[in-house]
Amino acid sequence: MNKVKLLVVDDEVDFAEFVAEVAEGMGLDVVLTDDPAEFALLYSIDINIFVLDLFMPDTDGVELLRFLHDNNSEASVIFMSGKDETVLHTAQELAHEQGLTVLGTLQKPFRAQELEKLLTKYVEETRPQGRVINEMPTPDDLRRALANNELTLVYQPQINIVDHEIKGVEVLIRWHHPLMGEIPASYFIPLAENNNLIMDISSFVTKAAIHQMVYWEKIGLDLKISINFSPKILDDLDLPEKLVTCAMEMDADISNVTIEVTETAIMSDVMRYMDILTRLKMKGFALAIDDFGTGYSSLQQLVRTPFTELKIDKVFVRGMIRDKKCRSIVEISILLAHKLDMTVVAEGIENEKTWNLLHDLGCDHGQGFFMGRPMAAAEIESWIDQRR
Ligand code: C2E
Ligand code: MG
Ligand code: MG
Repeated sequence: MNKVKLLVVDDEVDFAEFVAEVAEGMGLDVVLTDDPAEFALLYSIDINIFVLDLFMPDTDGVELLRFLHDNNSEASVIFMSGKDETVLHTAQELAHEQGLTVLGTLQKPFRAQELEKLLTKYVEETRPQGRVINEMPTPDDLRRALANNELTLVYQPQINIVDHEIKGVEVLIRWHHPLMGEIPASYFIPLAENNNLIMDISSFVTKAAIHQMVYWEKIGLDLKISINFSPKILDDLDLPEKLVTCAMEMDADISNVTIEVTETAIMSDVMRYMDILTRLKMKGFALAIDDFGTGYSSLQQLVRTPFTELKIDKVFVRGMIRDKKCRSIVEISILLAHKLDMTVVAEGIENEKTWNLLHDLGCDHGQGFFMGRPMAAAEIESWIDQRR
């Protein structure tokens, strides 16, 4: 099934980012802008949903509606507004007149659930006939998926921002459900965590990824791999030994494997994980703190953890061109990481401007759609060939 495409237009970048995060969490493809002048450039007939702020400087949501009508769009619209509700109703009527479907209106500030409800309504109403309606996969579906090889791995290049060389890949899991289509990792990883399936999934990912790394080495590709670990896995005190055994059985070099753990997960109870993190580091694994900036690290905690790499969350990287605060957070994260002898990876680089700015700020590595999307292993090989 093609992904549902969504365009968000809001001069308040925080709101645009918030909408994008929620929609991406549901597996939708999102483009966002805080500049209504870009609307015509970003518009395309295959966009399914527009999320529009009604009040913006220079232009307003009503003008954008006219544009959609003039360009024969059959999309659905969601309005957002900080002003009183009567305006929202008027806009709704106008949109109906223009032949557009209004999914609903959101009074700012709104909660993620309110937006999710509107998006779910769209996804369910437009789901092709014959599919399972109103259903999200259950733990049993996931169990079956593991057994039936519905889970696969993709790899996203991580590039050295200074010399443009590929340093390695992040391993990301995918689930293609035969009836429901692509299920987002942000949905089924928590499902696995809450239903005793995360060990099996993690073990599948780790084995397959190390196997792939060893294969790449055999064909002359020197690629490091970064694997995401759920904090639930870190409760297993035998984990370091198990991982070493797994690597040794495949003749893999442990120093080429980075273990990524999210900041939110680790810092919620840093003492609990300290022991295992330290032992993983002693065994030779590299350790990355993922989604940095979204959690609650105190400086004291950060200094004491054995992380070797800091990954700046994509919310800040994606926002850094337009939003000074995002840029400051990125700048400070880079400085902080370097002071603590960590390498810095920026995730979510979507355009050249961002890449250049990160280069000027001294960021070491980058990952993002601008350089390469997550791809199947064979695609990584041809992607590297093409770059040469
Ligand atoms: P993460 O580890 O922070 O992974 C980066 C996510 O950002 C990936 O989403 C990737 O597809 C996406 N991304 C990469 N570049 C860009 C970009 O330029 N723009 C935007 N908008 N997004 C970009 P994905 O694959 O959906 O994974 C979501 C999260 O699910 C991951 O976040 C990670 O926390 C978790 N996850 C994925 N695979 C695994 C796994 O094997 N095990 C565990 N425990 N968690 C996993
Ligand atoms: Mg990660
Ligand atoms: Mg991340």
